[in-house]
Amino acid sequence: MNGKATTTRSRLDRGRSALGPALELVHTGRAPTRAVLTAELGVTRATAGAVAAELEALGLIRVDSRPGAAAGSQGRPSHRLTVDEKGPVALAAQIHADGFRAALVGLGGRVVATAPGCVTVSADPAQVLGAVVEAGAGLLRDSGRRCVGAGLAVPSAVAEPEGTALNPLHLAWPAGAPVRDVFAELVREAGIEGPAFTGNDVNLAALAEHRHGAGRGAQHLLCVATGHRGVGGALVLDGRLHTGSSGLALEVGHLTVNPEGRPCYCGSRGCLDVEADPLAFLSAAGRAPGPEVSLLQQSRDLLRDQAADPAVRAATEQLVDRLGLGLAGLVNILNPDRIILGGLHRELLAAAPERLRAVVADRSLWGRSGGVPILGCTLDHNSLAGAAELAWQPVLDDPLAALGRLAA
Ligand SMILES: [Zn+2]
Repeated sequence: MNGKATTTRSRLDRGRSALGPALELVHTGRAPTRAVLTAELGVTRATAGAVAAELEALGLIRVDSRPGAAAGSQGRPSHRLTVDEKGPVALAAQIHADGFRAALVGLGGRVVATAPGCVTVSADPAQVLGAVVEAGAGLLRDSGRRCVGAGLAVPSAVAEPEGTALNPLHLAWPAGAPVRDVFAELVREAGIEGPAFTGNDVNLAALAEHRHGAGRGAQHLLCVATGHRGVGGALVLDGRLHTGSSGLALEVGHLTVNPEGRPCYCGSRGCLDVEADPLAFLSAAGRAPGPEVSLLQQSRDLLRDQAADPAVRAATEQLVDRLGLGLAGLVNILNPDRIILGGLHRELLAAAPERLRAVVADRSLWGRSGGVPILGCTLDHNSLAGAAELAWQPVLDDPLAALGRLAA
């Protein structure tokens, strides 16, 4: 091989290996222009231009060269980069105690279409998973969009590498239900393209918030959330979920925050799981939960009354104090640079931000010396968006291979 051919080959290799990182930069909004892309990738303008053109040819991004586009780093106009709003989508599915939701999610974490379903979740995972896959297949048919794969979010720890739901406590599924295999089989049977993935719903919410929401830019992002029953946690380290040796890390719900508190199904008492979820809030305020709307919605409605109702105010302070105690323990152990809160915990932060921050600061070694920013999650449907991230990951890793268009 002569010198010129070697140079051409290595330039092509460099261009190809930059496709994934370039797509991730546009996907996460960190490269709004070609000038920023050039700087972030550390390549020449010509290489960045070729990479952007290739991603555009793959139907993944749009390169807008119209004058008046956002200014580049040199102060002159640069081509603007956006995800292609007509490009492929991932099928995302979420199961919760009241039913399911299917969605199509494009690059950039954009939810293109959703279909909720209200069902009683039976002991056979194939029942509700069949329903959510059917709803997703319907959305795909209506949209006419290409599908890159499917992701599923479940309210349970998911063991790796088996893909089993170990503690689906507020669903009727048996412990150890093989949800990933069942979901993958249903996706295949429905003729939906691409691989299928499954993860814990709070893990996936944290991943989506890190890429597109309140967690952007954090290096050690801790997420704690409660949507219905129980409390979940997740840690995103340098952009990747920390899942532990077998997928079960960050089971934060069983931190003791009230030693004399309510019994927990884990055998202990006063766990965060039973002291800081919507059911605990309703009980602390002396309200019996009704069946008409979700426990989270009932809690939100009640929180609006806190200024007028001393019992609701006291319940809010009690839950804020217990949540703060749990967060303080996590701050000491994990030393996060940001904490984001989801579901009812986001509402509690909004209702009593000073109190929550003070409890975390007073009760943690690292909280006192500087303080850790505590923010609310910002994405709608962040678990669904995170389930889609699982399906998008092979495309982000190697767009050409994943889309089956290998370089000539
Ligand atoms: Zn417990």
